[in-house]
Amino acid sequence: MDYRKTIRLYYDYVINCYTRVPLVLERGKGTRVWDAQGVEYLDFFPGWAVSGIGHCHRRVVEAIKRQAEELLHVSNNYYHESQGLLAEKIIHHSFPGKVFFCNSGAEANEAAFKLVRKIGNPSRNEIITMDRSFHGRTLAAVTATGQKKYQEGFEPLPGGFVNVPFNDFEALERAVTPKTIAIMMEPIQGEGGVRVADHPYMASVRRLCHDKKIILILDEVQTGMGRTGRMFCYKNFGIEPDVMTLAKSLGGGFPIGAMVAKKEIADVLTPGTHATTFGGSPLACAASLATFEAIEKEKLINNAVIAGSYLFKRLNELKRQHVIVKEVRGLGLMAGLELTIEGKNIYEECLKRKLLINCTQGNVLRLMPALVVKEKEIDRAVQILDEVFSLEKEIVLTKERGKAA
Ligand SMILES: *Cc1c(COP(=O)(O)O)cnc(C)c1O
Repeated sequence: MDYRKTIRLYYDYVINCYTRVPLVLERGKGTRVWDAQGVEYLDFFPGWAVSGIGHCHRRVVEAIKRQAEELLHVSNNYYHESQGLLAEKIIHHSFPGKVFFCNSGAEANEAAFKLVRKIGNPSRNEIITMDRSFHGRTLAAVTATGQKKYQEGFEPLPGGFVNVPFNDFEALERAVTPKTIAIMMEPIQGEGGVRVADHPYMASVRRLCHDKKIILILDEVQTGMGRTGRMFCYKNFGIEPDVMTLAKSLGGGFPIGAMVAKKEIADVLTPGTHATTFGGSPLACAASLATFEAIEKEKLINNAVIAGSYLFKRLNELKRQHVIVKEVRGLGLMAGLELTIEGKNIYEECLKRKLLINCTQGNVLRLMPALVVKEKEIDRAVQILDEVFSLEKEIVLTKERGKAA
């Protein structure tokens, strides 16, 4: 079908709640995707980190095919092998606890909200979250999300959420009351502009939660599954959360979410208190188990560390060469470049040069290549960015000359 026909169908029949570029994608493999005309793109933002181990990873595709021949779905009133195995796998890589399976990041966070409310009910029902955070698009998740633009127009919002500035321990301490049941944050704010939690801050938050019997929820929907050079980002900080939420790359491209809770609190959710029809289906669990297998057997976390340090070395070179790059931030293969100018144009120029990236908060370019990325692909991406930054410098200079004349 003509790609223009595809776009037309969206225009006529798909609710228009996304900003889309006119690019119809047809195929993907590793760090590459191809459009309907067969043009190849280097993907440094694979599905907002969903395709974390690369597009159509062989192990994931095989596992899905195999499982699809056996059983697609069973209700959670029965057992099936792969859900148990996947829960065991997640716990093996995190902390002693139990897992609730769902289908997305927002749902994983909803499960966390319900868990902590059930624990605190009725007297302790407040959850503190961070400014510029992002936790998903359900009503409770947008309320937890510390950004007005995601909330406006959807009032009344559910109560019981308090926002405080990120990386500001005093502000957090001040916000804690006897009603506080949980503190929730991303170890690195993704949508918030790739802002990494400070080490001492994280340690203080952990201590505070321990002392005041507050539940620490870490949203690892974006930072999990090896992205930051450890299986889960919190491991970089030498602390452990009480609850962790996962989704995005958990299924290697297949939708699956999970809420992981420490043993002592997990059993608060008893039969009938929480559920989701599709959660932890055989197909989703098979895809996720294959994702873990790929990460383990192909030493992808090791690659995230090595390729990540190379990526940051090259990005810091770019910063030295281009004054429009104000700061390079991130960890592992999660990188943000804060610019002194709007990033929209840069994004578009990269797209023209067949490099897919993201721009968040207006002026932060975000790069999150798949864990399988190679040095020469990083070189290619950096070369394109270099070209585009130079072009941008020309535009700025021309404008200034125009003003001066
Ligand atoms: C993407 C994201 C979510 C929401 O996940 P969905 O699957 O879109 O519901 C939640 N938290 C963080 C940190 C995210 O990056």
